[in-house]
Amino acid sequence: MPANFTINRDRLLDTFLTLVQIDSPSGEEGAIADYLADRLTALGLAVHRDSAGNLIARMDGTGEPILLNAHLDTVGQDRGIRPVVEDGIVRSDGTTILGGDDKSGVAIILEVLQTLQERGLSHPPLEIALTVREEIGLLGSKALDMSQFRARQALVLDSGGPIGSAVVSAPSQNGLHAVVHGKAAHAGVNPEEGINAIVVASEAITRMPLGRIDEETTANVGLINGGTAPNIVPDRVEIRGEARSRDDDKLAAQIQTMTRALEEAADRYGASVEIEVTRSFSAYTLDENSPLVRRVVRAAERLDLIPVLVSSGGGSDANVFNAGGLAAIALSTGMKDVHTPQETIAVDDMVRSAELVLAIIQQK
Ligand SMILES: [Zn+2]
Repeated sequence: MPANFTINRDRLLDTFLTLVQIDSPSGEEGAIADYLADRLTALGLAVHRDSAGNLIARMDGTGEPILLNAHLDTVGQDRGIRPVVEDGIVRSDGTTILGGDDKSGVAIILEVLQTLQERGLSHPPLEIALTVREEIGLLGSKALDMSQFRARQALVLDSGGPIGSAVVSAPSQNGLHAVVHGKAAHAGVNPEEGINAIVVASEAITRMPLGRIDEETTANVGLINGGTAPNIVPDRVEIRGEARSRDDDKLAAQIQTMTRALEEAADRYGASVEIEVTRSFSAYTLDENSPLVRRVVRAAERLDLIPVLVSSGGGSDANVFNAGGLAAIALSTGMKDVHTPQETIAVDDMVRSAELVLAIIQQK
């Protein structure tokens, strides 16, 4: 391997361990943003925070600028994380997540910047966007003013799989929020005067195709809430669900099937239903011959990594950058079993991921 790509393994691990010990549940990224603003400033970068709390930094260079992104927030059992390193694998003490999603991405970006600088390597201008509230709907990246970026290409360090895996296609997601209005009545005295909103909702749900609809489409009802007491015919039920597809026509069809099931069930019982459909994020697909994908593939091959182009079922900040006019690809940091107490990451994988990012940056 070319000496240029030698990453400081101990420092990278040290940064990662420090980051995971700074609590940063979604919406509470202030402390970690403060810490990172100091680190980036110490590296000589121009740093600022936007009104949403995202941390933006710039490093001068020559050539076509490139954007590096990771998110600051975590989700799950994510307070008081105590990392354990054993045989080159980092895990939590078993009571919390590890937070490799996405502190591994943040640590890799820091290590790449530091390596570029101390080795005096030539590189293009770098724009760094460390986002908040990614885990609760990509809210930080959606609040970014995309016009502030000069980069037309972005590397999103926020994915799993063998190093060299790159997400080139991810779905659109629509959220569905419905409120079924029935009619309250005493369950024993005059039930015939009531309209049971729970019955209406459950009948609608059983008629919805859910789960995996096809290779690129999924749907879920994930939340249901209604009723007040066993002896009252319930007059209100609230349902929250979602559908995703990498094909927007299929997504529209799936959402229509779900809303029609609700409307038809409401009609049958004389109930009414309010339905709200919102776009959570939009799909992207990068052509395998696009300059960014070719750049990633060439860099991976140069490091003897196997480039694997992945179609994902999940969304990430890459969806938002692509929608905002930057070609963005999500790269693996080696994170595994994220959002669970079994989460792990191999130190060697973080090192390889950082080497790959360095190679991509330096790849013309
Ligand atoms: Zn993530």
